[in-house]
Amino acid sequence: MAKKNKQTWDLAPAPESTGHVQIKDRYDLFINGKFVKPAGGKYFDSINPATEEKICDIALAGKKDVDKAVKAARKAYDEVWSKMSGKDRGKYIYRIARLIQERAREFSVLESMDGGKPIRESRDVDIPLVAAHFFYYAGWADKLDYAFPNRKFSAHGVAGQIIPWNFPLLMAAWKIAPALATGNTIVIKPAETTSLTIMKLAELIKESGLPDGVVNVVTGAGETGAAIVEHPDIDKIAFTGSTEVGKIIQKSIAGSGKKLTLELGGKAANIIFEDAPINQAVEGIVNGIFFNQGHVCCAGSRLFVQESVYDEVIEKLKHRIETLIVGDPLDKNTDVGAINSEGQLKTIEHYLKVGKEEGNEFYESSCSIPKKGYWCRPTLFLDVAQSSILAREEIFGPVLAVQTFRTIDEVITKANNTEYGLSAGVWTDKGSKIFNLTTQMRAGVVWANTYNRFDPTSPFGGYKESGFGREGGLHGLEPYLKFE
Ligand code: ADP
Repeated sequence: MAKKNKQTWDLAPAPESTGHVQIKDRYDLFINGKFVKPAGGKYFDSINPATEEKICDIALAGKKDVDKAVKAARKAYDEVWSKMSGKDRGKYIYRIARLIQERAREFSVLESMDGGKPIRESRDVDIPLVAAHFFYYAGWADKLDYAFPNRKFSAHGVAGQIIPWNFPLLMAAWKIAPALATGNTIVIKPAETTSLTIMKLAELIKESGLPDGVVNVVTGAGETGAAIVEHPDIDKIAFTGSTEVGKIIQKSIAGSGKKLTLELGGKAANIIFEDAPINQAVEGIVNGIFFNQGHVCCAGSRLFVQESVYDEVIEKLKHRIETLIVGDPLDKNTDVGAINSEGQLKTIEHYLKVGKEEGNEFYESSCSIPKKGYWCRPTLFLDVAQSSILAREEIFGPVLAVQTFRTIDEVITKANNTEYGLSAGVWTDKGSKIFNLTTQMRAGVVWANTYNRFDPTSPFGGYKESGFGREGGLHGLEPYLKFE
């Protein structure tokens, strides 16, 4: 293993204050504009992954609660929302967007406390994008005829939406905003480890005056999600999560007539050519896999480096990961926060173990990590074989599998040799190489000389086992409409 670089500076802690944040001891379900207790009377703990301390109780919704939420959504659709003009729907969505902007700081802190992501990420990326999505789709609500000229269409009715834990509020925004803009009503379920910010969003939605039942939030784990999927009065399912659960959902609704969009796993290739701006590329790699703990479905978890610059890139990368600060998500200096849950940490540790047992050379940051909480040091696996588990399976942690290549054709073949196809990155000085590569990559998004850039106007979605359907942009309206 190469000699580890010493971190060259120490920064004094700069924790974000939490005084302005209000957290209740218990969060109930949000159904028909009211906060109601779950029929079964059960609650589960929401844990802060950085401290392992309990934050609050979250209601566990069962079939009866889901049924109640679907009925409320149907009633709101039939009696209010489907009759409202696009212009008026847009006003509500704008109001929600503005309220989110006003409370951006509170939402950022809560997102970091509940999910473990660094405050820098939630403050500078997640929450601004949440507001931007609501603003963007508010603009479409009264312009759908321009979005789809000369076509007749209508909303589906009630949309069931199930979201993961890596971008809790952002994934909620990606799903709620276009569904509302197109005139659907909603039953949404957050992931069991990250329900807090969505419950806060429910409070904000109530405050916005959105008619009762238009958005309903049910909390719980897989069984609650399955109850939404199986409910006979749901017209459309939008799911973001694992490929495994995506397949279960697809089977479960087969033949039911329900519409479906799936945004599933990824194993993105980040490709560095010898003519790339290397320092910029190294920063892009770090951003792509280590910031946000690798908890990103489009994380650049496979790195392909052209042989002639391999030594330079690896040396710089090792140096850079030694300077990453792993720790308190609420500290503004933190680069890598806490792993979202104990279960996810075990999954990552399993991959680290198997990767080492396979005999791969590896390099782990020597950074210190807090005693309590769920943490994983940024880790590189070098010269990984195409057949290695590290190059094939989604790890969802700060673990990078590095491979080499000589020619552009070789790297395209290698990069496409995966069951997934969500995203990819390319680093080169040559525009022609970028166009050649982007047209041949089987990935929904290909970033050039940057990584993990998001914008509400840009569609996002996958190929192959990464799912189907697009979210974001004009394309993101389509799955929420039925066309004649
Ligand atoms: P991950 O492995 O990243 O946690 P999952 O696919 O397990 O992703 O979870 C994503 C979302 O799907 C979560 O909200 C989870 O509660 C929900 N979920 C899990 N199992 C099911 C299921 N069988 N049907 C519907 N939703 C489910």
